[in-house]
Amino acid sequence: MRIFTASLATETNTFSPMYTDVHSFYQSFYAAPGQHPATPTLCSAPLIACREYAQAHAGTEVIEGSCAWAEPGGLLNRQSYELLRDEILLQLREAMPVQAVLLGLHGAMVAQGYDDCEGDLLQHVRAITGPDVIIGATLDPHSHLTAARLQAANLLIAFKEFPHLDFMQCARELVKLAVAAVQRQITPSMSSFDCRMIDVLPTSHEPMRSFIAKVRQTEQQPGVLSVSVIHGFMAGDVPDMGSRLLVITDNQPQLGQQLARQLGLELFSLRGKTLPEFHSINAALDLARQCNTGTTVLADVWDNPGGGVAGDGTLILQQIIARGLTGVAVGTIWDPMAVKLCFAAGEGAIITLRFGGKSCATAGAPIDKEVKVVRLKANAQQQFADSSVPMGDCALIAFDGIEVILNSNRCQSFDPSLFQALGVVPRQYRLLLIKSTNHFYQGFAPLAAQILYVDAGAPYPSDPKRNGYRKLSRPLWPITEQPFD
Ligand SMILES: [Zn+2]
Repeated sequence: MRIFTASLATETNTFSPMYTDVHSFYQSFYAAPGQHPATPTLCSAPLIACREYAQAHAGTEVIEGSCAWAEPGGLLNRQSYELLRDEILLQLREAMPVQAVLLGLHGAMVAQGYDDCEGDLLQHVRAITGPDVIIGATLDPHSHLTAARLQAANLLIAFKEFPHLDFMQCARELVKLAVAAVQRQITPSMSSFDCRMIDVLPTSHEPMRSFIAKVRQTEQQPGVLSVSVIHGFMAGDVPDMGSRLLVITDNQPQLGQQLARQLGLELFSLRGKTLPEFHSINAALDLARQCNTGTTVLADVWDNPGGGVAGDGTLILQQIIARGLTGVAVGTIWDPMAVKLCFAAGEGAIITLRFGGKSCATAGAPIDKEVKVVRLKANAQQQFADSSVPMGDCALIAFDGIEVILNSNRCQSFDPSLFQALGVVPRQYRLLLIKSTNHFYQGFAPLAAQILYVDAGAPYPSDPKRNGYRKLSRPLWPITEQPFD
């Protein structure tokens, strides 16, 4: 059996000024054929799962294509998308004949002239392979599910967990089902239901925790191969934005349709009830002050580079400074220019520095301080589940009882290892300020006396009612109160 595998992924916030091009991929993650490291990344996990399968099953040959990932950002330019797509298509043409094509996709990539990059890529793949080859992909649940994708692919599997700690598990499941389909043990049939809603659906909290448990139970039913919950990605202005249920059965489309509808309506009934409590900046800082022992984690949920914004916002830090709070560590603020200046000044230098607040008008003003350059680290990394996430060159600066990690690769705050990378021991601080919507949760919960989700109101387009979508093709809650009428 010959399996071709590759990965092309990013998450496009069409409202973001952080435009994406091919260099964004080279900077975040790029592995040419055969060059992929032994550890998976969020979206290239199918390649690792294919390697594992081939090692355990003689007679399986894996042909590796390119794997590319760009940190979520703004619209991808057309030439860059076509270049990366055509690179993989050329590799596939040269690899033919194959029995399966397994791709690591994200599902919310949007390029100039391409509202549905993944649908376009899958259709091109199908055109090369013909109808009999099994085409499958893993998806991030923060994606759009389109008819083009359902038509072109046999197997689409989204991560169930948010935080997406199960990405490797999903990739292994994809390989297992694809092999079974190639061997004609199963005939995958995909059914979907449009939930007509968009919301943020963390599975680390109720009620989504129980809902996902139910989804896993449903997968145990006879005839059901896989169930995915597409959460949708509200920062993507594309026709198919929104939540969907996707059920793969063993050639039982009616059962699939029935289950997709049943679970989809149940998800619809949870709309507006899935988020942990969000606090204003002032309310969060009041609560933090009341906590006398241990470490309070403040999550800046809407300046999360994982959602495609810059991650250089200063709205919360400005208030921390104004209140004179000390014992504070911030991880991270994206500012490659300030990092360069810190590297030039050197460890131990005391310099005047302007940092943060440079990328857009809504995320707070830059901060001007006399700072000490405490530590410099080239190519710093943090961990997220099985993967290493590059933070680029980083500088730890200190002023007024506050320490800030400045990074040069945009990335969200996944895990306390981001602090340790710069020699900062998170437990020694009263207050940790991080930038993440929910991926941080499992990593930080064990060390936190309390976790506060802070809604600073910007810069992520977090209110669908005010986002002004132009391309949306159908009514969705909460823009429309009763979208099924
Ligand atoms: Zn996601």
